Amino acid sequence: ARLVGATADEVERAAEAALRPKRLDDFVGQRVVRDQLSLVLQAAVARGNAPDHVLLSGPPGLGKTTLAMIIAAEIGSALRITSGPAIQHAGDLAAVLSSLEEGEVLFIDEIHRLARPAEELLYSAMEDFRVDVVVGKGAGASAIPLALPPFTIVGATTRAGLLPAPLRDRFGFTGRLDFYDAADLERVILRSAGLLGVELHHAAAHEIAGRSRGTPRIANRLLRRVRDWAQVRGDGRLDLRAARAALEVYEVDPIGLDRLDRAVLTALCTRFGGGPVGLTTLAVTVGEEPETVETVAEPYLVREGLVGRTPRGRVATPAAWAHLGLTPPPAPGV
Ligand code: ADP
Repeated sequence: ARLVGATADEVERAAEAALRPKRLDDFVGQRVVRDQLSLVLQAAVARGNAPDHVLLSGPPGLGKTTLAMIIAAEIGSALRITSGPAIQHAGDLAAVLSSLEEGEVLFIDEIHRLARPAEELLYSAMEDFRVDVVVGKGAGASAIPLALPPFTIVGATTRAGLLPAPLRDRFGFTGRLDFYDAADLERVILRSAGLLGVELHHAAAHEIAGRSRGTPRIANRLLRRVRDWAQVRGDGRLDLRAARAALEVYEVDPIGLDRLDRAVLTALCTRFGGGPVGLTTLAVTVGEEPETVETVAEPYLVREGLVGRTPRGRVATPAAWAHLGLTPPPAPGV
């Protein structure tokens, strides 16, 4: 819903692919997850087995797809990619699973959006490496069990809590990706600049890092926009001046909030007096799906201390009012 068209999307995707770390050692930050994953993978390789199924959770752009690719690379296997929404019927998933070769890695993005029958089929596939293939229709239909060679599922979800417990329990390892701190983002940006072959001033890297919402995907995207600005309107140098000017053109605010973040905050303060307001109402007001507001915008707003979650709904904190340059209404009873 936030992309402007297939072409722009494809351009972004190609640019992203070029900057993806290929091995665990190149993956910046997320030390805990990296360390745990490295143990899981090394042990599996040493035993000559397919590693346990891996679930990766966290907001978009933090490296889940990248890690799935790295997992396949580290164990020397091929990677197949699909997603929850792409699998319409259980039969589609059965077809994908039965075409897997021994030891292959199947990445299922947005696994929380799998349809129920597909999800149930996945249970036996993950646990017993078996799918029941249904032949025939109606009363004459019968299920033929089909044994599968061992493989590894890597599931990605924006929130592990969205997964039903029986599915969650079938993953031997869950890695929770958190927003990156500014120092790690700076490393991501400097690494990307190196790969793009541009000379990025340290102060510019620092500026971009501070405005990337803790998200490597955004950091890389802003870096490319700064490069554009330097080339078209600047003198070619990627310095602090270019960084600031480009970020202003692209309406990235001083703490990195994007258009959706600001729309949510503004609605919360000006339409609902700071809340509490329910997620669905808030989402309708900004014209987005509740899931998008909840998994894309909200985690960062909460982490930055701008929005609070209460049992009665979302509330704006004093910092939110201050950030928007607004005065909060007087507290009731004062
Ligand atoms: P997700 O699947 O979680 O939405 P991706 O794996 O597609 O995120 O990552 C988005 C982009 O950010 C990729 O192009 C990748 O190059 C970059 N990226 C993500 N995590 C890292 C990291 N730890 N180090 C370097 N680059 C990263």
